Amino acid sequence: MKRLLTIVFSFFLLFNLAAQENYKTLSKEDSVKIYLGGEVYEVKNYLEKSKVQKPKNVILMIGDGMGVSQIHAGLTANKGNLFLNNFKKAGFSTTSSSNNYITDSAAGGTALSTGVKTYNGAIGVNPDTISVKTILEMAEEKGMATGLASTSSITHATPASFIAHQPSRNMYEEIAGDFLKTDIDVFIGGGYKHFTERKDGRNLADELRQKGYTVLQDLEAISKVKKGKLAGLTAPEHNGRVNERGNLLPVATETAINILKKDKDGFFLMVEGSQIDWAGHQNNTIYIIEEMLDFDKSIGKALKFAAKNKETLLVVTADHETGGMGINGGDIEKGIVKAGYTTGGHTGLMVPVFAFGPGAENFTGIMDNTDIAKKIMKLLGL
Ligand code: MG
Ligand code: ZN
Repeated sequence: MKRLLTIVFSFFLLFNLAAQENYKTLSKEDSVKIYLGGEVYEVKNYLEKSKVQKPKNVILMIGDGMGVSQIHAGLTANKGNLFLNNFKKAGFSTTSSSNNYITDSAAGGTALSTGVKTYNGAIGVNPDTISVKTILEMAEEKGMATGLASTSSITHATPASFIAHQPSRNMYEEIAGDFLKTDIDVFIGGGYKHFTERKDGRNLADELRQKGYTVLQDLEAISKVKKGKLAGLTAPEHNGRVNERGNLLPVATETAINILKKDKDGFFLMVEGSQIDWAGHQNNTIYIIEEMLDFDKSIGKALKFAAKNKETLLVVTADHETGGMGINGGDIEKGIVKAGYTTGGHTGLMVPVFAFGPGAENFTGIMDNTDIAKKIMKLLGL
C-alpha cells in the first residue's frame, strides 16, 4: 500500500513538474505569447465621493488597442489587482469608423475627440475632410486649461486627433504645425524631430519658446515644471518600451495634472497608453502586459488626484482592440498569462469604458465611441 502511494505520488509530482516545464521550453514563437509573471505593484483603494454633479475637470485616458483581454492579462499579471478595479461605473463602446467596420486610431481618436464618425486615417476632420472642433479646442475657448500626454510621438494619430486637423495621419509635420495654432498648456510625448527637422525649415521648438512655452526633452526636468506652458518632447520620434522610457507616462500624467489644476476654470487632459496597440500588432503578450501595467499606473496617478479633488471626471477607454487577443490559460497566484491571437491587426470588438467621479453614471451600458465625446462635451457645458 505504501509503495503504491509512493508511485502515485511520484507520478503526480512528475506530472506537475512536466506541466511547469512546458512554460520553460517555449518555442521561439510562443516565447512572447506567455507571460511568466513579473514585478507586482501595490494598488490603493480610492473612494468615489463627488462634491458636484457636473465635473469641473475631465481626464480622458485612452489605452490604444486595449480590449477586455488586454486588461484581464494585466489584471492577472498583477495578481488580481489593478487601479482600474477602483472604477464602479463601466460600459462598452462600439468603435467602427465611417468607412470601415474596423477602425484605425485616427478615426477612433477623432470620434473620441469630436463626436463625429470619420474615415480611417482622418485627423480631426469629417468624411469630407472639413475640420471638426475637438473637446480640447472647445475647452480652450471656454478658458479651461488643456493638455495631452502619450508614449508615442505626440504627433501620432491618437493625440493628434485632439489638436490637429489634417486629411491624413501621416502628415506629422503639418500635425506638429497645428500645435502652434492652439493655446494648449501642456503636452508631453515623443516627436521632437517633427517640430525641428522639417521640410519647411521652421523650428517649431523655437516658435514654441517665443509663445512662452518651456521646451524640454529630459523627463527629470519636465517633472519639475510646476506652472506655465510646457512642451515636453522626450524622444526624436516615438518613446521606447517601458524598459527604455521608464515611468514616463505616470510622471507625465502627474506633471500635467499639477500644472493644469491651477486653472480656476478647470481643465481637460487626454493621456494615451499608445503602445498597448503596437504590442497587440506584434501578438506579444509580454509587451502587452508591460504596456497595460504602465497605463494602469498612470490611471493610478489620475485616480489619486480625482479622488481627492472630487470635481474631476476620469474616463478610461480604448479606440479599438488590437490582435483579437484571447486568454487561453494562466495562473492568477503566479501572475502567469497565456494568450492567443486571431489577427495582427485591429478588430471590430466593443471596448470597455470606465468612469469615476462626477458624471460617471453617464458612461454605463453600450454606447458608441462618438457618444463618449458628446457626453464629455455636455458635462463640461461645451
Ligand atoms: Mg495611438
Ligand atoms: Zn494599431
